Amino acid sequence: MRHRDALFCLFRTAAVCSAILTASLAAQQQPPPSPPNKTQVVLLGTGNPFPDPDRSGPATAIVVNGSAYLVDFGPGVVRRAKAAMFDKGIPALEPTNLTIAFVTHLHSDHTVGYPDLIFTPWVMGRKVPLEVYGPKGIKAMTDHILAAWQADIEERVSTETWQPPDYRNTYKVNVHEISSGVIYKDANVIVTAFPTKHAFPETYGYRFDTADRSIVISGDTTYSQATIDACHGCDVLIHEANTLEWLARRPDFQPLWREVSHKHHATCRTRQ
Ligand SMILES: [Zn+2]
Ligand SMILES: [Zn+2]
Repeated sequence: MRHRDALFCLFRTAAVCSAILTASLAAQQQPPPSPPNKTQVVLLGTGNPFPDPDRSGPATAIVVNGSAYLVDFGPGVVRRAKAAMFDKGIPALEPTNLTIAFVTHLHSDHTVGYPDLIFTPWVMGRKVPLEVYGPKGIKAMTDHILAAWQADIEERVSTETWQPPDYRNTYKVNVHEISSGVIYKDANVIVTAFPTKHAFPETYGYRFDTADRSIVISGDTTYSQATIDACHGCDVLIHEANTLEWLARRPDFQPLWREVSHKHHATCRTRQ
């Protein structure tokens, strides 16, 4: 089942449908930097496992009052954040400012950028450990990544004498395995997690409530009443889905869609 789902993810389109985007990097023109007190939604990546050179892996940033809140860390996340900083004038997306992240689920296309998110901003001078929120399993994934890069950590800590004094601690990750409900709150945002229906027993979408916007990011899910409920009254819904046009162009893929994949994903016309 899981392998077949992975196959589905490999071929599915990366359309973000049913989305009403008030602000995003999708705009090709170069806008002036937004006033810092307005919430911004930055689509850092809208891809899937297919290595499309025009789409990085799934990752979205909510930017509020100069702080960035990431949702998912697909491949390319750190470099797309740097590009948003340079090209769109969003200083909150300077990689060293990426300190808080939420993950919807543990599929590789949503998490392959995790070691990049842990280590690249650290090496560039991030001043605090990373805070990561996600479903059960994110702690084990984090521990395995830190173990895999242990030689790098030891080498850098022992030789990079120009780094900040707390360098031996700021590569670390404070992991929060969550359940549904309000999982994070600060002066900028209230983040509420809600269950979605995808290939794992435990997956989440997130609702961000800020002073001027409510934004829901569903991640991968099929029909989900909880997603509908979370979006009641929301300003923006970012929802991963397949387009019917893409499915129509792939008759070879349709048996897999009918048998398995529709159970884990939505189209732009998914109904109960
Ligand atoms: Zn997935
Ligand atoms: Zn996905």
